[in-house]
Amino acid sequence: MSRPTFSRILLKLSGEVLMGKGQFGIDPDMVARLAAEIGEAKNAGHELCIVVGGGNIFRGIAGAAQGFDRATGDYMGMLATVMNSLALQNALEKIGLDTRVQSAIPMATVCEPYIRRRAMRHMEKGRIVIFAAGTGSPYFTTDTTAALRAAEMNCDALFKGTSVDGVYNADPKKVPDATRYEGLSFHRVLADNLKVMDASAVALCRDNDIPIVVFNIRDEGNLTQVLSGGGTATVVSNEE
Ligand code: UDP
Repeated sequence: MSRPTFSRILLKLSGEVLMGKGQFGIDPDMVARLAAEIGEAKNAGHELCIVVGGGNIFRGIAGAAQGFDRATGDYMGMLATVMNSLALQNALEKIGLDTRVQSAIPMATVCEPYIRRRAMRHMEKGRIVIFAAGTGSPYFTTDTTAALRAAEMNCDALFKGTSVDGVYNADPKKVPDATRYEGLSFHRVLADNLKVMDASAVALCRDNDIPIVVFNIRDEGNLTQVLSGGGTATVVSNEE
């Protein structure tokens, strides 16, 4: 069964992907591998923008559990996404790709502020735009940021790069005969509470008719394959 192809996408990378085999922080080899994947997709003619999470460094909820004020913890989490975005930018530029980081929390000496029309223009010029600092507001996640920016940037799809090759009816790491869905509706994801992205991100994609493509970013060449309708992935969309 062939899947749809997508021209302009928003790629969401969780902070955990950047850890590689480590337990915390940024693994430069892993970031270089991710950059190579992204470069391959770019060279195949796709337009990309990226949202990176911060869970490899700091999560507001974890901070709150340790006694931090929740909003303060969330701002720390957003700052973590800026570090990850700079690491990814560095790796992408090392392989000759033109990139811009735009932060939802203005940081004039580090990167550009988030300005939608400017980000659009960067993409038209063939640059990869990395959106840092989430939405700029506490109590949100970078999944929601990804859905929001995908809508703002008129993306054809939101690609969620994870370490599993799609959405399963049970955790494939714990249940050996868990089966992978090829396609799923937003309704089903929300009704069955399937762990794709958080509910507000799924609802935003549903309301704006932006499919979510869940795929394994660690498989070499997979991003480009899935972008052109091959590879292995699960597509969540408004189709039943
Ligand atoms: N965050 C936030 N507002 C946003 C996006 C992120 O407050 O719009 C904070 C929140 O504390 C979150 C942290 O930044 O835990 C890191 O983002 P996330 O947990 O989404 O990263 P991921 O799980 O993708 O690595």
